[in-house]
Amino acid sequence: MKAAVLYGPRDLRVDEVPEPTVLTPTDAVVRITASCICGSDLWHYRGFTDKRGRIGHEFLGVVEQVGSEVATVRPGDLVIAPFVISCGVCPPCRGGWPTSCVRGAGWGGPDRDGHLVDGGQGEFARVPLADGTLVAAPVDPDDSRMPALLALSDVMGTGHHAALSAGAGPGATVAVVGDGAVGLCAVLAASRLGAERVILLSTHADRADLGVKFGATDIVAARGDQAVAAVQDLTDGQGVDGAGECVGTSASWGTALALVRPGGTVGWVGVPHDVKDGLPIWKMFGRNVNVRGGVAPARAYLPDLLPEVLAGTLDPGPIFTDTVTLDDVAAGYRAMDERRAIKVLVRA
Ligand SMILES: [Zn+2]
Ligand SMILES: [Zn+2]
Repeated sequence: MKAAVLYGPRDLRVDEVPEPTVLTPTDAVVRITASCICGSDLWHYRGFTDKRGRIGHEFLGVVEQVGSEVATVRPGDLVIAPFVISCGVCPPCRGGWPTSCVRGAGWGGPDRDGHLVDGGQGEFARVPLADGTLVAAPVDPDDSRMPALLALSDVMGTGHHAALSAGAGPGATVAVVGDGAVGLCAVLAASRLGAERVILLSTHADRADLGVKFGATDIVAARGDQAVAAVQDLTDGQGVDGAGECVGTSASWGTALALVRPGGTVGWVGVPHDVKDGLPIWKMFGRNVNVRGGVAPARAYLPDLLPEVLAGTLDPGPIFTDTVTLDDVAAGYRAMDERRAIKVLVRA
């Protein structure tokens, strides 16, 4: 079968790799019908990490085979695979934190049994702990809601985690730092949660436009101190109740912490990749600034978000601005690397 394989910085190829089979009784094998490229895949692609080999962690597809202990999905089911494998029964899973599962694993890395897990960008994937990981959706692989369903594998759940962690809710004023797919989904999530004002920081007109479609009430086309001053103006000098931090750099953290009012909360989901000196704890102390968040428990949010996507009342699908075939996945990486695409969908 074919799969995306990363060889080195900006060297991504489609290779022939072994087709997966059921290795343990809790495995399923899924024929991937749609996957996508994540901003965090780009960190590997750009050479900021030393990860090589199979790549991709956001996909959906049709179950082909299941092991003897798999009970919740059957061959033929269309399933969503969240970005982390989880068992569904350990204390962190039961507590709502499946991305911290004690038996968890990542796509493209080793599982707890020592077997290599397939990446999500390929024709098939073996899914360990299928009952805990996969969620079935009663739709066909060519359903028009497929982009929205695919977004539930990571970015919509992650945006929801940012908004929820930032305290978005009825009456709240929130700001979102980061206008990538996750930031835009955080806007959509904050709006869904009933936030009265959702301020998106975006200096890219196409991303700002999508932000407005997703419910942003205000766009601040500035960064850093200028953005903070603009948000102070918009909030009568008070600052926002909550800020979604959807980037993961020292600069985005500095902005998010400065945007919130005393007692406000930064909801953070940006994978930290440039926060060298830690957080300015004394600035936080003096203003009672709260920090909540981390790696999003996307699997735990699926029971809430999936019915709304199926009903057509929640549609993060427009974050996909480009579609490529698996054979052309390298072109999709280039489009995201060069910021020509917000997010790229990969069709089988
Ligand atoms: Zn992702
Ligand atoms: Zn678990």
